[in-house]
Parts: sequence; structure tokens; C-alpha cells
Amino acid sequence: RAKDLGRNGFQLYSPTMNARSFERLAMEAALRHAVRRNEFRLAYQVKVDLVSGRMSGVEALVRWHHPEAGLVPPAEFIPLAESMGVISDIGEWVLREACRQCQQWRDLGLPPVRVAVNVSALQFHETDIPAVVGRALRDSGLPPHLLELELTESVLMQRVDEVAGVLRDLRAMGVRISIDDFGTGYSSLSYLKRMPIDALKIDRSFVNDIFSDDGQVAEEGASIVSTIITLAHNLRLKAIAEGVETVAQALFLRQRGCDEVQGFLISRPVSGEDLISLFDRNLLPDAVGEE
Ligand code: C2E
Ligand code: MG
Ligand code: MG
Ligand code: MG
Repeated sequence: RAKDLGRNGFQLYSPTMNARSFERLAMEAALRHAVRRNEFRLAYQVKVDLVSGRMSGVEALVRWHHPEAGLVPPAEFIPLAESMGVISDIGEWVLREACRQCQQWRDLGLPPVRVAVNVSALQFHETDIPAVVGRALRDSGLPPHLLELELTESVLMQRVDEVAGVLRDLRAMGVRISIDDFGTGYSSLSYLKRMPIDALKIDRSFVNDIFSDDGQVAEEGASIVSTIITLAHNLRLKAIAEGVETVAQALFLRQRGCDEVQGFLISRPVSGEDLISLFDRNLLPDAVGEE
């Protein structure tokens, strides 16, 4: 694992390590300068309201265009950025760029849409998030209610009272909070109840398990998803499903009262410019709207 290498800075010699550790060092050096060299872009993926069929929000997803290696997926460089101690710089750039872009859509006269930004646990704990968020909002002119932060369960596990306080401050500003990849972490239900949050995002792996490969409802998988939707609603939270790829999944989720869906069925992540064509129209396939 990339993460294990960086922390203590050395690793026992092994011949096969050489090429890989060299590659990693080169990647680290490049990543250290990537913000300054303007190598990041944001892609946006729509979230759709399952009742109206309209765009309810978008999630900003960071993309690194490495000059030689090409597009590096966030699953590769985010953990590296965390181990190198540069995640907060990248995270702040993402936040500011997402706010700027969202405000630009408003300036173009498009219907208001909320932008969601992923905040890593490390970034959440090592920076003054309300201050960083406050500056990004002020500098962009974006109203706070159009910003949402996506946090993983791991954020909720440490320094619970302190975290709850920070989340309260953010919500007092008007910012929304959702829990990303819900169900894959280890957050206890008693913590969840105490956290001032707005939505649970059901992890893609659960959505994928609603149906088996032969297209039949998979009882266990389906009941986990239904249970998370019920849990969310009982806690007065919205339920959002990520990684929705089929009409059958979307229909199932709508029938179970899930509020919003996000996934390749609706749209892949696209540039801020390409997103414009998705505003102000029904984004659900006909088959999901019926029944
Ligand atoms: P995530 O926040 O759970 O984002 C959803 C990921 O699932 C995205 O991958 C998205 O492209 C992908 N996805 C969306 N719909 C579907 C679908 O229908 N099927 C499948 N198979 N995949 C789908 P991406 O963009 O590669 O991002 C991966 C992860 O990297 C994100 O997971 C998030 O944890 C992290 N990440 C992305 N951008 C940022 C960022 O700006 N800051 C931080 N801290 N993390 C980020
Ligand atoms: Mg996310
Ligand atoms: Mg997610
Ligand atoms: Mg996920």
C-alpha cells in the first residue's frame, strides 16, 4: 500500500521494490507541484431527484492530468497526497474551484444547483474547515446553502464531540453535510445520531448487490439497501444512492423511497461546460419515471 511507505520514510530493501519506489518518488515529486502547475481539473456528476427527475445537485470529482502519465485516478493520488501531507492544499483548491464553478453556472442564469465537495478525513482534522469554507464562499460569492461537504464515516469516529461542534458550525453557516460511502466504515449508530448531518450516501457496493447477475432481486443485498434508506429517513436524513447503473436499480430505489440517485445510468462525471446541457430537464430514463 502506497500509504505505508511514506510515513516512516524507509522500507527494507527488496529488488522488486526499486522500479516501483522510483516511480512512486517521481509521482510524489510531481504531485507536490501539481496545484501550483494547475494540473487539476474538476469533473461533475449529477445527482437526480427520484420524484421530479431533475438535477438536485452535482458532485465535484478531482482529476489530475499528469504531464507524462496522463490522467491519474483519485483512488491513486488521494492516498498519496494524504501520506505526503499535501491533501489539504489539494482539498482547498477543489473547494474553491467547485464554488467558483457553481457560482458561474448561476451567473449564466441556470437554475440553482448544489455542489458537493469531498473532504478527506485527514483534511477535516488538520485544517480549520469552517474558516476555509467561509473564505471559499466569500471569494466566490456562492450562497452557503448551495455547498455540500461529503465526509466519510472515518471522520465521525475520532474526537466525536469536536467533530460534532465543527459540523454544527458548518451547518450554522448554511452548508449541508452528507456521509459518503455509507455502510462501508465503522461508524456506530450512537455517533450517527449525535452528528448534525443532512444525508447518507449509500455506497456503490450495496447498490451493486441489489440484483444478482441473473437479474433477480438478491434478498440480502436488497434488504441492506432498504434498511439504510429507512435508517436515513428515521433519522430525518435524505438517502442518496451512488453508483446506479441500471434502470432496475433506479426503479427499486424509487419504490423504496430513496430520495436521489447518482451514477452512470444518469451521467458519467463531465466537465463544468458539458454539465450545462443537463440542467433544467428530466434526467431519468422513461422506464424509471413510469410505474
Ligand atoms: P466517491 O466520493 O464515492 O465518488 C464516487 C466515485 O464513483 C467516482 O469515482 C465516480 O466517478 C464513481 N462512479 C459514479 N457513478 C458510478 C457508477 O455508476 N458506476 C461506477 N462503477 N462508478 C461510478 P472517482 O471520480 O474515480 O473518485 C473516486 C473517489 O476518490 C471518490 O469516491 C472520493 O472518495 C475520492 N475523491 C474524488 N475527488 C475527490 C476530492 O476532490 N477530494 C477528496 N478528498 N477525495 C476525492
Ligand atoms: Mg463523494
Ligand atoms: Mg461516494
Ligand atoms: Mg464511493
